[in-house]
Amino acid sequence: MSVSMSLVQGGAAGGAPQGASAILAAAAPYYQPPAVPQDVQPDRPIGYGAFGVVWAVTDPRDGRRVALKKLPNVFQSLVSSKRVFRELKMLCFFKHENVLSALDILQPPHLDFFQEIYVITELLQSDLHKIIVSPQHLSADHIKVFLYQILRGLKYLHSARILHRDIKPGNLLVNSNCVLKICDFGLARVEEPDQAKHMTQEVVTQYYRAPEILMGARHYSSAVDVWSVGCIFGELLGRRILFQAQNPVQQLELITELLGTPTMEDMRHACEGARTHMLRRAPKPPSFSVLYTLSSHATHEAVHLLCQMLVFDPDKRISVTDALAHPYLDEGRLRYHSCMCKCCFTTSAGMRQYTADFEPSAGQPFDDLWERKLTSVQQVKEEMHKFIAEQLQTGRVPLCINPQSAAFKSFASSTVAHPSELPTVASSMGMTAK
Ligand SMILES: [Zn+2]
Repeated sequence: MSVSMSLVQGGAAGGAPQGASAILAAAAPYYQPPAVPQDVQPDRPIGYGAFGVVWAVTDPRDGRRVALKKLPNVFQSLVSSKRVFRELKMLCFFKHENVLSALDILQPPHLDFFQEIYVITELLQSDLHKIIVSPQHLSADHIKVFLYQILRGLKYLHSARILHRDIKPGNLLVNSNCVLKICDFGLARVEEPDQAKHMTQEVVTQYYRAPEILMGARHYSSAVDVWSVGCIFGELLGRRILFQAQNPVQQLELITELLGTPTMEDMRHACEGARTHMLRRAPKPPSFSVLYTLSSHATHEAVHLLCQMLVFDPDKRISVTDALAHPYLDEGRLRYHSCMCKCCFTTSAGMRQYTADFEPSAGQPFDDLWERKLTSVQQVKEEMHKFIAEQLQTGRVPLCINPQSAAFKSFASSTVAHPSELPTVASSMGMTAK
């Protein structure tokens, strides 16, 4: 199957050669960069996650464009420093084509001056939010291959017992070949098996927030991510946000307009107040048929899968593994493994050799026991300093920030986005909600 699925313009607007003004420099005094064609694009901001600023920069070791994420104000409190450490450990743990991982971490200064952390990841030119709001044509094949990759990445995360908790189009990066990677693990955490343990409500950008969280459930599972994927699937089909409400109460109203009023059984995870509120409202019938009006791509098969993701009761919602087995995803899988993946290859005779496992799980769960042993900011700081030093890959010249760089001055001071730099109102919602 040969396809050209390009949606994203490769590269960014060119600029003047920057030379010494580049943010990244080799941390070896006599290091001579190899004679590779150096990229002349200037370093520039490209995005703002829940807890960090991301820049597109050039790696001086090979001239490659990479993403540099700054995690600012790391050591303000025990909670914030542990959250950053968790994100950092996750980025180093991930090994999956559809999950963004760390390529490098900049070597920190002496412990006494250690305030910020800089992580280098692969650079992807766009994200699903930018694509959905753009005028670019989205074919049924695009939707299938995007949904397939979201679920493929999520299966890996869930198999490592990680809940992402902020799956939204802006956190799904896309490159010029339509390869998709889940990013921003600022809110991710390990699944809590103990039902009695309370979990924070302040997760997931409101539009993609599962009904059990909106109804104050104290404990929730990986099903919250599946709900978010269902919302994104609907948004890909309709090219507009599926449940776009002003506040959490209205958000729940919009959901029940589609799904109908939930039964008491469906609401057993909800808090008492939210259940009472729901029962006081006039009962609404479900109206799933409106999903067929989203677009011509909303076929019976598509709506059948979508309805299994948008289920009120998280225990009855389809799992990622079961969703991947749905016939709607067969074509996305075939397309992905025919010409987009790195796990299969074509022989010199032109035969495609497919991998034995199309949707691999993580080899082991992500361990978070270390978190419980950390009881002070200073302790986290020392452990993180040690962890970063251990990540230094042998044989690679370490990188550091070039303090002479003009772009760095602007980067160093950017902890929050300037309004004019934000992509759109919708995608920035996630930053204020937390
Ligand atoms: Zn493959």
